[in-house]
Amino acid sequence: MLEIVNEFLQADSRNFRANRKEKIKYLVVHYTANDGDTAENNAKYFARASRGTSAHYFVDEKEIWQSVKDKDVAWHCGSTKYYHPECRNENSIGIEMCSYKDSSGYHISGETQSRTIELLVVLMKKYDIDLNHVLRHYDVTHKSCPAPFLEESIWRNFKERVQAAMEERKSLVVDVKGKEVVVEAIELDGVNYVRLRDVPKLIPPLEVGYDDKKGRPTIK
Ligand SMILES: [Zn+2]
Repeated sequence: MLEIVNEFLQADSRNFRANRKEKIKYLVVHYTANDGDTAENNAKYFARASRGTSAHYFVDEKEIWQSVKDKDVAWHCGSTKYYHPECRNENSIGIEMCSYKDSSGYHISGETQSRTIELLVVLMKKYDIDLNHVLRHYDVTHKSCPAPFLEESIWRNFKERVQAAMEERKSLVVDVKGKEVVVEAIELDGVNYVRLRDVPKLIPPLEVGYDDKKGRPTIK
């Protein structure tokens, strides 16, 4: 069990298949479409009886419960028709985010999203999976899941947060002639590294561009 996981409660044996035959190549994000459920509720629900479906992890605002071992196959993105050429239950891990509902629809709380990002980063590092292999259930089968992430800009933003967490980026506040400028930075051996494109914010009159003909960045 991963250190980040609070509890492991195995799903009923009818809800998964032991010992996957393929390598884990994809991480698939879902939402439970419940209103105020918890990771614990879900793990217990899938442990109690045959449900015809399952996921490896359930994430809520406070905890992560694991229901199916990574080495076993959960039934989280199976379909009769696929929109992704490669991702299937056999080569993926399914992560369910608990949700809540109001008059505007379903939502995933900020805490649940942050905890999901932490889990994704741990799994990406463990199985050497890059961001292009982090998918929504929607990307695999076109099911409206996770409903709050269907809009591309929201999903892109979530993935950017995953990437930032992966790289342990931080916000660096720099005092530029008395003005506070915030840029993203990566700290390595006590040195802050910033993006070339952020340099103009820090040293105002400079313009950073890219010379397509010469194929290299430019600073004017
Ligand atoms: Zn789903």
